[in-house]
Amino acid sequence: MADLKEACGVFGVYDFKGESIFPYVYWGLVSQNHRGHQSHGLITYNGDFHAHKALGLVPRMRSRKMRKWMTNLPGSIGIGNVRYTTSGNMDRASLYKDIQPTVVEIGTNRIAISYNGNIVNAVQLHEEINKSIKIEGTSDTELLCKKLYLELEKSKDLSKAVKKCIEDVEGAYSTIGITGDGELFAFRDSLGIKPLCIGFSEDKEIVAISSESVGLDINGLDCFKDEVKPGELIRITSNSIRREQLVEQERKALCSFEFAYFSRPDSMLNGTKKYVYEIRKDFGRNLGKTCEQSGGIGNLEVVIPVPETANDAGYGFHEETGLPLDLALRRHRYVTDRAFITMPRERSNILGKKINILGDRVSGKRIALIDDSIVRGDTTKNVIQKMKASGAKEIHIYITFPKIISPCFYGVDMATFGELIGTKREPSEIAEMIGAESLTYQNLEDFIRTIGLGEKALCLACITGKYPTPIAQKIADEKRTEFEKGTVEKKRIYE
Ligand code: SF4
Repeated sequence: MADLKEACGVFGVYDFKGESIFPYVYWGLVSQNHRGHQSHGLITYNGDFHAHKALGLVPRMRSRKMRKWMTNLPGSIGIGNVRYTTSGNMDRASLYKDIQPTVVEIGTNRIAISYNGNIVNAVQLHEEINKSIKIEGTSDTELLCKKLYLELEKSKDLSKAVKKCIEDVEGAYSTIGITGDGELFAFRDSLGIKPLCIGFSEDKEIVAISSESVGLDINGLDCFKDEVKPGELIRITSNSIRREQLVEQERKALCSFEFAYFSRPDSMLNGTKKYVYEIRKDFGRNLGKTCEQSGGIGNLEVVIPVPETANDAGYGFHEETGLPLDLALRRHRYVTDRAFITMPRERSNILGKKINILGDRVSGKRIALIDDSIVRGDTTKNVIQKMKASGAKEIHIYITFPKIISPCFYGVDMATFGELIGTKREPSEIAEMIGAESLTYQNLEDFIRTIGLGEKALCLACITGKYPTPIAQKIADEKRTEFEKGTVEKKRIYE
């Protein structure tokens, strides 16, 4: 159970028949609410922009309310976003102000974007943009939106403007937007760090773009599915869909954490043609094999996954080893905040409330506990304490995501070396710290092979310390030196 946060989920749709797209955006966001619980927002377009923004989860709507929303948010073009903060201030007013989609409106010119990611060279970009337009908020989205707006002002050409953004902005940004004259567009950074896919209705009258394929599935827009390619721009107008490969590089860098934790198990990412579920199950099989090879099976009586992201790996471990699987940990379903989406003081309160233990299922047992990752260690420690309090005899942990040793600068909330339990510690030390009898991580080779995209297609920076972009590498190297000297790091270390 990772104690991490992902930045956002995005969704955009265009109905060529001119009918209301509100329900599509709504369901696209509901299906991706796991990617951001802090706020949600929608913008629709019918010649004018219509916006709704609120803190918290996408609300559950009854059908009569749906009709009201369709009236309030009219139009056949729309974009939406679920978010939590990985950049910017965390007070309520700032959180509200930074809700996406973001609109830049100067004179009669307007542009709106919904974006998932994080900008690494935010400081330089802030200085550059502030010379032309005042930056009002604290989020990277405003930076990207204003950068795009300025480039569009200069070139009067969306393709040129996006190309310049991709060239000048280092980081992760899977983006969907609407121009002032009603063109829907989508683009990804040249490494494709965050996922983004496109799909159509069967008659091709509706096209949608979504962070994860579940956003297409829930809407029945799952025909002719494809990914938005890294460095690609897609432009959709009333009579055309244009795909332009603006920047191309051999190296790609899809966030590998998507496969272990962030994405829904029923999504498919980047043309893997495999559900994330199947990959996670195979992660569990790999760990089961490692357990067998090390002679660990004889010590174990039962496999218990930490719900819900490790359930599939738990099943794979059980299939491989033949050990019985028991779902003896259960989530309190309506404790909706993922531990990582909250501020530190809230996190410790929420950790204890998320998981319930079926005490008599763990009492007296020697357990293989399967989990997706260990970041700070507080979440796992909390679960182990509760299991031991319920009488668990031995807990041997198996983790699908290899050991995290470096921060993420691309939109996941682990920004410092100091907060990572794995930075300087061996698995045996970590096991002792969190109260387990042993700890085994999936090895990197098995992890990469099982995803099936190849090492050169993945970001593995938090596991290897090798970043796919140069400024991130430079910052990490400098901060690692500072960390080793004992200097206190800033939370977002590149500010
Ligand atoms: S550093 Fe880790 S969490 Fe961040 S994008 Fe890369 S793989 Fe994902």
